[in-house]
Amino acid sequence: MVEPAKTLPPEILPWLDLLNNQHDEMLARTIELAEINSGSLNRDGVNQVLEKLLKLTSGLSKDHERIPVSPWEVVNDSGEIIQHPLGDALRIRKRPEAPLQVFLCGHMDTVFPKDSPFQKVRWLDDDTINGPGVTDLKGGILVMLKALEVLEQSPWTEQIGWEILFNPDEEIGSPGSAPLIQEAAQRVHLGMIFEPCFADGNLAGQRKGSGNFTVVSHGKAAHAGREHHLGRNAIRALCDFVSAMDDLNGQRPGITFNPGYIHGGGPTNIVPDRCIHKFNIRLEQPDDEQWCLQKLSEIIESINQRDGIQLELHGGFTRKPKLLSPANEQLLALAKNIGHELGIPLDIKPTGGCCDGNNLASAGIPNIDTLGVQGGAIHSDQEYLNVKSLVPRARLSAALLLSLAHASAQGDCFEWLKRKG
Ligand SMILES: [Zn+2]
Repeated sequence: MVEPAKTLPPEILPWLDLLNNQHDEMLARTIELAEINSGSLNRDGVNQVLEKLLKLTSGLSKDHERIPVSPWEVVNDSGEIIQHPLGDALRIRKRPEAPLQVFLCGHMDTVFPKDSPFQKVRWLDDDTINGPGVTDLKGGILVMLKALEVLEQSPWTEQIGWEILFNPDEEIGSPGSAPLIQEAAQRVHLGMIFEPCFADGNLAGQRKGSGNFTVVSHGKAAHAGREHHLGRNAIRALCDFVSAMDDLNGQRPGITFNPGYIHGGGPTNIVPDRCIHKFNIRLEQPDDEQWCLQKLSEIIESINQRDGIQLELHGGFTRKPKLLSPANEQLLALAKNIGHELGIPLDIKPTGGCCDGNNLASAGIPNIDTLGVQGGAIHSDQEYLNVKSLVPRARLSAALLLSLAHASAQGDCFEWLKRKG
């Protein structure tokens, strides 16, 4: 890690103190947002969250744009491609002409579908609530908004322009909102994403890339007793594919293949003519993608030599690996340094998980993607939020924004942040 660019200027401390009485408000709004079901495929629910956010941000900027995103294409259990409509995205901008442009992003969706039994927030103890999306990522939305409120009250606002993207589909890999992140990357110098920090308070650095795929196996149906020899068993062909794919684990460092779902067949007196399999790949280097695709196509080609068997591959890589550029290292070092000065000790740790920070980094924008709240057990009905992290994390993000704005006012041009060419 390179040395931090700046320490915290004392002039900004009184502005951070504006946050000290915001706990109750942040908590109440977090609970309100978490209790709206916003499973990624619950379009109405996600749009209800968007409506609430329009109200919550009305004091920050009037420049907001509600943007429909493309539907999500998936292969269903019959092997057909179907489209799920998604909620809208919300983009809010301020001072696009300012010298330093910051992108702030938080997703509105959760992994809990409309019919999930996990819908309400409850207290586990004096410091902890349990609820859907309280940590991933509704608490983070409040952290973002409160940090911006402080910036907007400070004397250094003219130095920083910003745009928020609230996206509706992060939990399914941002298929609809990825182009909006890409677009923003053309306008901004750095990104702040409000995914939860790790349960111990640390921030994520490098992240793996990820791809989601479906293989549909087509065979030929036949009577299992009378004409078994005429059938072509789609399940057997798919099992061979899964075994061969799983054997790729360990062949190249940092790459994992995870068979995740299988569905097919029917009555046992019929040779099954269709079977589908969904799997996930994680990888560390951009050129790992090509290696994986090559290996998968070799396996499929060899199985497709068999009479009457056809395997089709759908899907692709949705998240590029997040590698840390020197600018990104410096940004993380700045956050770490600020954290220590504010009494929020934190370290930077690599992770196999991915998020919109991957997309932004692959578009060349340094970013910190775990500026949200502290909690844990996310993506399960045990998800909890340490409510005492709300204000400190807002202080951390506000301090980051204010220290950049303050340095800009002192004449710092942030050459390390700005893209070449
Ligand atoms: Zn999340």
